[in-house]
Amino acid sequence: MRKFLIFLIVLLCSVTLTQAQSKTPESNIFTVQEVAPQVWALILKPTSPVQAISNTAFFTLGDRVAIVDSHFTPAAAREAARLVKIVTGNKPIHYLINTHWHPDHVQGNSTYSSFFPQALDVIAHINTRRDIQEKEIPSLKETQDDLVKEIKDLQEQLKNGKDEKGVDLTTEKRQETEKNLQQTKDLQLDLENLEITIPNITFDKSLFLHGGDREVQVLYFGRGHTEGDVVVFLPKENVLITGDLLTNAIPFMRDAYPQDWGQTLAGAEKLNVSRIIPGHGQVQEGKERITLLKEFMFDMVAAVKEQVAAGKSKEDTVKIVKAALSEKHAKKFSNFDRASNSAIERTYSRLTEK
Ligand SMILES: [Zn+2]
Repeated sequence: MRKFLIFLIVLLCSVTLTQAQSKTPESNIFTVQEVAPQVWALILKPTSPVQAISNTAFFTLGDRVAIVDSHFTPAAAREAARLVKIVTGNKPIHYLINTHWHPDHVQGNSTYSSFFPQALDVIAHINTRRDIQEKEIPSLKETQDDLVKEIKDLQEQLKNGKDEKGVDLTTEKRQETEKNLQQTKDLQLDLENLEITIPNITFDKSLFLHGGDREVQVLYFGRGHTEGDVVVFLPKENVLITGDLLTNAIPFMRDAYPQDWGQTLAGAEKLNVSRIIPGHGQVQEGKERITLLKEFMFDMVAAVKEQVAAGKSKEDTVKIVKAALSEKHAKKFSNFDRASNSAIERTYSRLTEK
């Protein structure tokens, strides 16, 4: 549960406030934003009552719809599917593209296949398919078990009138625990018996989809946030959907390959992009943030390499590199102070692992 909560906090902290949109339809989970004709972003609202955690984008391909990523919970995916039906005039989702294997991008996969019972093709990089099977499915099982245990613990605390440290519950603490219990129960029910639909179409470098007068390029530029991040590029509309290869801050680094990430972004940077739908945070105008994150990765990796070569410990490396990067990069990333630590630590581990 701890690991899972930390994961949630890290992700949520990288999301800034959503601005109200005048666009219909209304949703208490997402803001619907049309970024090009028949191309929509579903931007997660920070006040969302269910755990969605990531953004979604979808677009029409002739009489069908393609959607990118499927959220952390089936409840969030059901809401996305409801909105897709409304704004596209009931066109079926035919393609689901998973940008990478993380739970907040794939745990709603089976929701789309049941909401749209006709054939659904799930597309991902070959490494993402492998990681869903080898990492995400065991981690979901762990989350499911943790939630059951968490509910038991909270019920026990309420029954005994004592918190986890044995301290008597105040009225305020009791209310908080009751609320926490209800939220945990809702989440547990939503994830109970959940099985993840595994991608049935995989590729190595690129895969194109065609429908109506639209072309869609699903592209792999190399390792970054994970080993299988793909971006979705609409060349006619100049729209790029990035998953967590690019967010509005320093992205989550636990599974990252920082030494490759800058080069991977350099690939995406060459595309003729005017609007970006990132995995977390608001729609971005222009591609400036690709360049900013690329430069951060290049500078950070070079600085960490220097310290590793000088035989510095991980702790010292974090202090030295953070101070060195601060002047150029701190202002560019709202989460620099916290996230740069884990970025540097992750890089140090990657560079020193055998
Ligand atoms: Zn991710």
